[in-house]
Amino acid sequence: MSRKIAIVGAGQSGLPLALALQGRGDQVTLLTNRSPDDLRRGKVMSSQCMFDNALQIERDFGLDRWADDCPPVEGIGLTVPHPEQPGERLIDWSARLDRPAQAVDQRLKMPMWMELFRERGGNLVLQDAGIAELEELAATHDLVVVSAGKGEITRLFERDPVRSVFTQPMRALALTYVHGMAPRTPYSRVCFNLIPGVGEYFVFPALTLSGPCEIMVFEGVPGGPMDCWGDIRTPEDHLWQSLKILDTYLPWEAERCRDVRLTDDGGVLAGRFVPTVRRPVGTLPSGRQVFGMGDAVCVNDPITGQGSNNATKAFKVVHDAIVARGDAPFDAAWMNATFERFWDYAQHVVRWTNTLLEPPPPHVLNLLGAAGQIPGVAHAIANNFNHPPGFFPWWTDAQACERFIAEQAGAAVPA
Ligand SMILES: Cc1cc2nc3c(=O)[nH]c(=O)nc-3n(C[C@H](O)[C@H](O)[C@H](O)COP(=O)(O)OP(=O)(O)OC[C@H]3O[C@@H](n4cnc5c(N)ncnc54)[C@H](O)[C@@H]3O)c2cc1C
Repeated sequence: MSRKIAIVGAGQSGLPLALALQGRGDQVTLLTNRSPDDLRRGKVMSSQCMFDNALQIERDFGLDRWADDCPPVEGIGLTVPHPEQPGERLIDWSARLDRPAQAVDQRLKMPMWMELFRERGGNLVLQDAGIAELEELAATHDLVVVSAGKGEITRLFERDPVRSVFTQPMRALALTYVHGMAPRTPYSRVCFNLIPGVGEYFVFPALTLSGPCEIMVFEGVPGGPMDCWGDIRTPEDHLWQSLKILDTYLPWEAERCRDVRLTDDGGVLAGRFVPTVRRPVGTLPSGRQVFGMGDAVCVNDPITGQGSNNATKAFKVVHDAIVARGDAPFDAAWMNATFERFWDYAQHVVRWTNTLLEPPPPHVLNLLGAAGQIPGVAHAIANNFNHPPGFFPWWTDAQACERFIAEQAGAAVPA
């Protein structure tokens, strides 16, 4: 049975849903506010590192077009600078991922998926959707999915005060895309540097418009010395500020950057937002209801690099629920039940991510230190980025954490 479905927002969750539903013969209207050329010519939007489970969903739907060109991210490492000995490291370990991660610049990926949707006969409408557009779509479609990311329109979905922990941004964010950085050996990785009280810096290989690059991500504690992007006016100043932070706090990372240059003038971004979980059903003035998906209803701070992964997993849950619905109506009960299926997974991502935005409790500090001595602990932390529910119960339960470390100390070392 072919359904009439409108999707608002052509991003990491909306586009795969549009393409997958189009593939099974649904009549899909995809409404979005930026054209493929707008995206290509615009600024970077994310660092979008995706782990294997999310990449597998793209592979299953025939959407992975960059697997051969995008450099792999083969591991994850953690470094904490020594608080009393400048230039020394208190914690420093890394572990391989069982399967590589990849980060494809959304300025490459989204335009190509949009063009694919259009080539296959899809109805791509370039428009900034407001309430009037949603009303029109809701009156003429069986279902309206709002996947508008952090767009204003998502305020239609009420904030869930129980599931949302924060009321203000927890980090000042910045991205710097560069060519020419010295690679990490013997395997590529997300090099995650945690500077207590100041913020975090992580960096990893990716694919951008001009080929392989490295993405530098800065997460500054608000009001602290890494919250320093407000007066930056030009891309070159942005790069200079990025390098200054590394020179000041992370000399081993600065060392890798002697020959870096920006990938392009759009390869920089600075901003901040409040991590928020919203209710999935939005009610329009007419009483008609629309359904939220992806960041529109569950937006996390990028500190754990989960947003694109979450968006992909949300797409899969929503897709499967639409298919399973047959010709029954997409009512509020279906919307709530579908979101709860996603939440079964996403609650762990949200909880884990939120813990990293506050000073770590002693058992987490102990765990992160133990990973330097016990390869099984490092392996588990690294590979749970692919499946954050694996962090529980030991990430938040001090006794379970102690038991986990003891078990891993006696366990065989993973290959
Ligand atoms: C600094 C930073 C670093 C990040 N790093 C990572 C990372 O390493 N790994 C990771 O997994 N995730 C990361 N993310 C998060 C990730 O990019 C997002 O979570 C993901 O793109 C969300 O997908 P989405 O489909 O919900 O929304 P988006 O991909 O944001 O798509 C939303 C779309 O809706 C359109 N839109 C908005 N409003 C309207 C409107 N009114 N009408 C029509 N169209 C509209 C937008 O133009 C956009 O095309 C990062 C994010 C940031 C900000």
